[in-house]
Amino acid sequence: MKISKKQLEQVNSRITALQKANSFYGKKLQQAGVTTVNSAEEFEKLPFSEKKDLRDAYPLGLMTVPESEIVRIHSSSGTTGTPVIIPYTAKDVDDWGIQFKRCYEMAGITNMDRVQITPGYGLWTAGIGFQYGAEKLGAMVIPMGPGNTEKQLQMMMDMKTTVLGSTSSYALLLAEEIQKRGIKDRIFLKKGVIGSERWSQKMRDRISTELGIELYDIYGLTEIYGPGIGISCKENCGMHYWDDYIYVEIIDPATGKNVPDGEIGEIVITTLVKEGAPLIRYRTHDLSRIIPGTCACGSPFPRIDMIMGRTDDMMKIKGVNVFPSQIEEILGTFSEISSEYQIRISHLDGKDTMRIYVESNGHVDFADLSRRIAETVKSRIGFTPIVKVVEIGVLPRSTKKTARVIDERYA
Ligand code: ZN
Repeated sequence: MKISKKQLEQVNSRITALQKANSFYGKKLQQAGVTTVNSAEEFEKLPFSEKKDLRDAYPLGLMTVPESEIVRIHSSSGTTGTPVIIPYTAKDVDDWGIQFKRCYEMAGITNMDRVQITPGYGLWTAGIGFQYGAEKLGAMVIPMGPGNTEKQLQMMMDMKTTVLGSTSSYALLLAEEIQKRGIKDRIFLKKGVIGSERWSQKMRDRISTELGIELYDIYGLTEIYGPGIGISCKENCGMHYWDDYIYVEIIDPATGKNVPDGEIGEIVITTLVKEGAPLIRYRTHDLSRIIPGTCACGSPFPRIDMIMGRTDDMMKIKGVNVFPSQIEEILGTFSEISSEYQIRISHLDGKDTMRIYVESNGHVDFADLSRRIAETVKSRIGFTPIVKVVEIGVLPRSTKKTARVIDERYA
């Protein structure tokens, strides 16, 4: 999806603002000799921005307007040292609220809904994003914040909560608690708006079935407003994103080149109207793809697919970029195997090879099953793996996704 003329004008306005403010990025762009971009080709040559740059700009180096215009900061988690500080103007806060309101509307949520918000408040963008969008919509907010399951359930029953804002893991925990306590008939939930951590279809089905609710995936990151820049619709085929606020590119994480629409790669986001801390070509390290064509729901907003993982998970087999989630997704379509699998990558006869170990669920022809799985991988991803079917219980159990992928090439 090429950048439009209007979006280019918006990018140029952001470049001018960054340079005028002499902010961290303004200086970087100046050093790179960037002034204005006049075409999609020129835009695709602009330097990327990275999380490391944002850390280097700590604490307020990203600020692109006079301080008098900054009304708030948010911060992304600093698990690896220095956190990232994002300053917001009043307009940025408002724009974010408008986007989140759209998310609720996309999910069919109205001003007659009661929205219980369980993600955290504070420096984090999560809770407050859910809240402001719901207030803009005119819904009734129940601002719980995280934890205290006892009280969450009490409020959910007493307030007759209809919408749950949550992470997928907390939604699952609540679903299990509700089932365990046998209080489902006192729960009035209709919809769940779920934060964007990657979750399996099996988990989705469990939450949806046990709570009897529709689930919507919300996308976002603190560096770009926060959650609410995109959401899935009732068709449940990818997430629409607001292309009047952000421009999304998908690049090959290894080469940095844009990939054609439909191909998987890294999400790169440019903010089009952000004032406090505009970002040009920010590398998210999230993996997805642009879904070509218009959605059956009729929305004119473009779509990215559900997040498939992180770029760190990428493997290259026989020149094809592969992500564990792609394999996992294919394996999920075979009812004859358990949810456990193991991927081993090795270098055999001068070639990189992938071996996939799966567990048979019952009485099937192992050879036939392995052939069918290999053929599906070949047709969907483009290379033929070696598939070994083993008896159930043979593969090691692990809760960590990474432990399922073993790269023996450099051992
Ligand atoms: Zn749609």
